Formats: sequence, C-alpha cells, structure tokens
Amino acid sequence: MSPAHPPSGAIEADVCVIGAGAGGAVVAAELAEAGARVVVLEQGPHHHADSFSARPLQMMSTLYRDGGHGMTLGSPPILLPLGRGVGGTTLVNSGTCFRTPPGILERWREEYGLEQLTEPELDPCFERVEKALSVAEVTPQLAGGNAAVARRGAERLGWSSGYLRRNARGCVGSGVCAFGCPTSAKQHTGITYIPRAKAAGARIITGADARHVAVARGRAQAVHARLEGGAHLEVRAADVVVAAGTIHTPLLLARSGLGGRSGELGGNLALHPATAGFALMDEIVDMAKGVPQSFYVDEFAAEGIMFEGVAGPPSYVAMSLPLSGQRHAKVMARYRNLAQFGLMVSDSSRGRVRLQGARPLIRYDLNAEDLRRFRVGLERLRELFQAAGAREVFLPLPTGVSPGRVTARQLKLMAFHPLGTARAHADPERGVVDGNLALHGVRGVHIADGSVIPSSLGVNPQITIMALATRLAFNLIEDQNKT
Ligand SMILES: Cc1cc2nc3c(=O)[nH]c(=O)nc-3n(C[C@H](O)[C@H](O)[C@H](O)COP(=O)(O)OP(=O)(O)OC[C@H]3O[C@@H](n4cnc5c(N)ncnc54)[C@H](O)[C@@H]3O)c2cc1C
Ligand code: SF4
Repeated sequence: MSPAHPPSGAIEADVCVIGAGAGGAVVAAELAEAGARVVVLEQGPHHHADSFSARPLQMMSTLYRDGGHGMTLGSPPILLPLGRGVGGTTLVNSGTCFRTPPGILERWREEYGLEQLTEPELDPCFERVEKALSVAEVTPQLAGGNAAVARRGAERLGWSSGYLRRNARGCVGSGVCAFGCPTSAKQHTGITYIPRAKAAGARIITGADARHVAVARGRAQAVHARLEGGAHLEVRAADVVVAAGTIHTPLLLARSGLGGRSGELGGNLALHPATAGFALMDEIVDMAKGVPQSFYVDEFAAEGIMFEGVAGPPSYVAMSLPLSGQRHAKVMARYRNLAQFGLMVSDSSRGRVRLQGARPLIRYDLNAEDLRRFRVGLERLRELFQAAGAREVFLPLPTGVSPGRVTARQLKLMAFHPLGTARAHADPERGVVDGNLALHGVRGVHIADGSVIPSSLGVNPQITIMALATRLAFNLIEDQNKT
C-alpha cells in the first residue's frame, strides 16, 4: 500500500508499536503504564489457551506462521519456525531464560561501539523483565526423566551443567510448551505484558498488517496498516517502535525506504542452528512428562556448542526420530524408554533476508567453522548419552556417516533464534540502529526485537530482547517527559 492511498480510518497515538511479541509487548506495556497513548498493531490473532489441544500438528498450524514450515535456502536448508499473534514467538517458545552473557556485552562494546549496553546499565532491565515473567529455576521433580538422563551423563563426565531458569508459574510439566501451554503456566508476553498494556489504556489491534512507516522531514509521522478484510488504517504517531521480529522487520523497513544506508539491512542474519539426538535407555524416561527444556550442559559453551533439553509427546517424537520403516516402528514402540537432547551452535555463519514478491526469502549457508562445531557437538552428544547408560544412540545422520565426516548438506537443522538483520552499531555506516535502538538518520523510528542483536548470543535470546526493549521504553519515557 502506498502511503498516499487514502486510509479508511486514522487514529492518533503517541507511540505506534508494530508486533506484539517479545520486544513489542514489553515496550507497549512500559510506555502505556507511563501514560503514553499506545497503539499496537499485530498481524496475527489473539490466541486463547482454552483452545490449546496439546496436539503438536494441530497447534503448529494454528500458532505458528505458515504452520511452522518456514525454511531458509542454502546448505543445508534450515527449518525456521516463528510464532504469529499476540505474544509472538514467546507464545510457542520453550520458556528458557538467560541473561545476555557478560562476554557478549563486552564484545558488543569492542566490535560494535555499543558503549551504553553495560551490565550495570542492563541489570535493572533484566531484573524488571524476570520479575514480570516470574522467572525461576526448574525443580528436578518438574524437570522429569529426560533431564535426569542428561544430568547423569554430565555428572559422570564431569561436564558443567544445570537446571534452566524459565518464565513459568504453576507449571505442571505437561511437556508441550512449544505447542501452546494449555494451562497458561508459561508466562509469555501475550498473558503478561499485553494485559498490562491494555489495562493502562493501550489499544491492541490484531489482524493488522503494518505495511509502511511514513517519515517526513526526517521524522516519523505514521504507520499504514492493512486490516483483515482489506481496510486501511493509519496510525499517526511521532514515535514508532518496529518489533515485527528478525525476519519481518527488515522487510517492513525496506518497503518503507528506511534503514538502507549502511547496506546492512536484512544482512548479518544469525540463527543459532540446532539439531537433536535420541537415546534408548533401559529405564522408563517418559519424556512426555516434565518440562521439555529444563536442563542444559554448557561445558563447551566457550567453543560455541550448547546442549539443552528437548522432548515431547509420541506424535512429536514420531516426526523427529531419525529412523525409518520397521526400525522406526520398533523404536517408537519403546517410546517410554526414549530420551532426547538438543545441540545448538553459536554461529559465525551469516545469512540475508530479502523480499521476494510479498514474502521473505532467507539465504543462509553454514560455514566451515560452524560445520566443525556440529561435528564436535554431535560426537559429544553421543558421549553424553553413552555416559548416562544409553543402550543405543540415534543421531540425525545418514546411515554409515559418522559425526566427524558429516557434510553441511547432510545435517538436519532447525533454528529458533533468528537475530541481527537490523543490527545495532554505533557507526551509521555499519549498522541500522544505534546503541539506543534508534534508526540511524531518522528521528522517531526505533526497533525493539531480535533484529537489533548484532551477534550470536550463544544462549536463548528472549530475555536479551525484552531487556533491550525495557531500556528503550525507559529512554522514550524520559524523552517524552522532557518535551
Ligand atoms: C519453538 C521455539 C522455541 C523457542 N524457545 C526459546 C526459549 O526457550 N527461550 C528463548 O529465550 N527464546 C526461545 N525462542 C526464541 C524467542 O521466542 C524469540 O527469539 C523471540 O520471541 C523473538 O522476539 P521478537 O520480538 O524479535 O519477535 P516475535 O516474538 O516473533 O514477535 C514478532 C511479532 O510481530 C508480528 N509481525 C510481523 N510482521 C508484522 C507486520 N508487518 N505487522 C504487524 N505485526 C507483525 C508477528 O506476527 C509477531 O507476533 C524460541 C523460538 C521458537 C520458535
Ligand atoms: S511444561 Fe509447563 S510451561 Fe510447558 S506447556 Fe506444560 S505446563 Fe505449560
């Protein structure tokens, strides 16, 4: 839609937030509670936990963008699921909560000139987010049998490991966090920050596809959106916060003719690519019971290799078990003895997102360094299971191929943490936003989502995104108080 197109409706706001996921929901609540008139435009619907069936395939088609079948092009192609709706990807995530590692903040200072993003500066933001989301460490009881297997393996090998911190309250260990928490125990932003924003007067408009951010004389003026049914909506606001996520934020900016100066927009895409292995144990594991992602092994984190729990009900395991035919059927018949654990790489490979027609085209090739990390990681995953007493280990490799010889194309990868396509850099020639998440060269346009994260984090990103969004909201409140 061109901004010249006559809108069928126009509303006034102090701030228009685009996207109600990790970053957008936080900014909206903080600003609305400080008295700003906030309008949130969210492309997806409001999902209600009453309709969450705990059936993986059914829920994926409802809660995920494109039914969870987004893919990258390249070697290898990587499955890239994204949430869509109020809560964004936090609605379907595993609930793992890590603060930004101090070494990463140091790197951001040295390599990207992000002097502002120090630990003392961000600590109050982390604390505020963790309190809002009821973040706490999982108990061993709730972690379940799958975590017990990994814990035993790590302890026998003397590897550093621990229970994860999560944003859950009253969790009953039903094991389907990625398919919509049926008890609303997982404290995603759709049931935490968005209700707060609403209570403080924010308008949350769902089914609203933001198409264009209008800027005049170097200052944000409005956001133009297409509503379900085709009507146009103009939200006039002097401040716009784009939080459409790492894949869609660069597309929206490109459509608006913004953020292109450094040539970085859409590039620098990191993914934290991941895979997982299974083990057949003598004991009853019952991985459908307990928190799927409850335990981590970070012994090799400095090498960019992180292990985290992953688990699910039989219908999910049947899709993921790297076996076929009779063998698949035989092992599935012993589902209660199966354990699973994930491997995530802190990648140095970088991809690019661009518009093709109306959709994102995502290019990403795994480089030699990351391939080596997967080779080592898969070998260590096998070691972990064997140390735990596995009878058999099933790695996602073609028959006869060992971890040390697997090629990039033979890897079966998924990615859950796209980052970096509108990266923060103090230098306008090298980044899209500055350290305060303001778009270089334009007043009143800010970004608060995974796209600003300039490097891989090595840990799950939601708390980093939300802490940066909190800091942005505080800065905007301060600015508004000055005027
Ligand atoms: C299966 C899975 C498990 C995960 N587990 C974890 C975990 O345990 N811990 C963790 O830290 N991270 C986890 N993540 C990642 C984490 O959830 C994301 O990094 C985070 O939610 C990204 O936040 P965001 O604000 O960038 O985008 P999102 O949360 O994806 O929100 C973006 C929102 O913008 C909307 N939008 C897009 N385009 C438009 C438009 N044009 N107009 C209006 N709205 C638009 C989208 O519909 C979406 O709702 C997981 C991800 C997945 C897929
Ligand atoms: S394990 Fe806990 S947080 Fe996850 S879906 Fe079940 S009740 Fe919700």
